[in-house]
Amino acid sequence: MERIDCVVIGAGVVGLAVARALSLAGREVIVLEEAGAIGTETSSRNSEVIHAGIYYAPGSAKALLCVKGRELLYRYCEERGVAHRRCGKLIVATAPEQVAALHKIQAQAAANGVHDLRLLTAEEAKAMEPALRCVAALHSPSTGIVDSHALMLAYLGEAEDHGAMHALLSPVTGGEIVADGMVLDVGGTEPMRVHAHTVINSAGLMAQRFAASLRGFPSNKIPPLYYAKGNYYSLAARPPFTRLIYPVPEAAGLGVHLTLDLAGQARFGPDVEWIDEIDYDVDLSRADGFYRAIRDYWPGLKDGQLAPGYAGVRPKLSGPNEPANDFLIQGPAAHGIPGLVNLFGIESPGLTASLALAEHVVQEAGGI
Ligand SMILES: Cc1cc2nc3c(=O)[nH]c(=O)nc-3n(C[C@H](O)[C@H](O)[C@H](O)COP(=O)(O)OP(=O)(O)OC[C@H]3O[C@@H](n4cnc5c(N)ncnc54)[C@H](O)[C@@H]3O)c2cc1C
Repeated sequence: MERIDCVVIGAGVVGLAVARALSLAGREVIVLEEAGAIGTETSSRNSEVIHAGIYYAPGSAKALLCVKGRELLYRYCEERGVAHRRCGKLIVATAPEQVAALHKIQAQAAANGVHDLRLLTAEEAKAMEPALRCVAALHSPSTGIVDSHALMLAYLGEAEDHGAMHALLSPVTGGEIVADGMVLDVGGTEPMRVHAHTVINSAGLMAQRFAASLRGFPSNKIPPLYYAKGNYYSLAARPPFTRLIYPVPEAAGLGVHLTLDLAGQARFGPDVEWIDEIDYDVDLSRADGFYRAIRDYWPGLKDGQLAPGYAGVRPKLSGPNEPANDFLIQGPAAHGIPGLVNLFGIESPGLTASLALAEHVVQEAGGI
């Protein structure tokens, strides 16, 4: 049997950030990934937005780790040459009755330590983005975009420079808790068993599945999992916007917003579709709803300009009509198994928070 200090399950942006942090701390690390490449699941099916930390409940892990993670991420991208842009975003009220929501968002952001939001009149907002229709807007200058794949490659490269390894096509199919750690069953073309002192379950949408397959893990510590798919449509033209445009948020999501990639192409979404099985096909029947939602703030959108893009799935811990859940970073103090950290419900802003999440996980895993 192979013996190793730390196993990270899952090579998404969070698993790779954790592997980097552990290896920088001098720990011996291997990342085991089921797929044939890194970052093929949620980490490559998102909006690539560096969130400012505006919407989350004050004091929540999402709020704290987003605000901290955003600054760490900007600094990291600058130092490592990862493509990104602090393009800013506008949250727009398109009817007078939505203006109160902007005030509420601004107050919530301030409670999270985000003090740079500025309330704009319609004229001020239109001076920034002439194609916009709104009655008022909030400007967030610290929101940005990042090349998520380049970021993952940077995390992996740095982890490997510090001795970490990664193995693709290596699904962790189960395991058991033993006196001095955990023994994991690894499938793939060359199945093996690995003994690890520390295991970071960063399996994203499959984090609950791994926890359930770990013999001896208390089943009452596994939270429920709900899939909330987000469909994206892309714009088959150059967008007349240079900032991200968000409507006032809706239940379970941020509304059909416009984000840009680093090449300046626009995409709209994600919406919220509750599903039972993971499925990444864009739901074509949703196009009419996208046109309607987008024309509310961009009346200039022409028929035929939207094309189906891609979809991602949020690993939610709360279902439809339930209050939004927080990240659940579950360490030994919560479940009683030394060396095991489960990352449940790492939906947005997990990309933004990845470096801060990784620091937190290293502490949960027993310090450095
Ligand atoms: C629609 C959508 C939009 C989003 N937009 C943003 C955004 O704009 N900004 C932001 O900050 N965040 C955003 N997020 C959130 C962000 O994308 C996620 O928080 C982040 O990608 C989660 O990374 P992860 O590493 O935890 O999971 P994943 O990327 O899903 O990685 C998990 C990995 O584990 C592997 N795996 C699973 N089971 C096993 C196993 N048993 N053995 C081995 N490997 C296994 C999988 O193959 C996968 O590669 C968005 C999410 C969604 C769904």
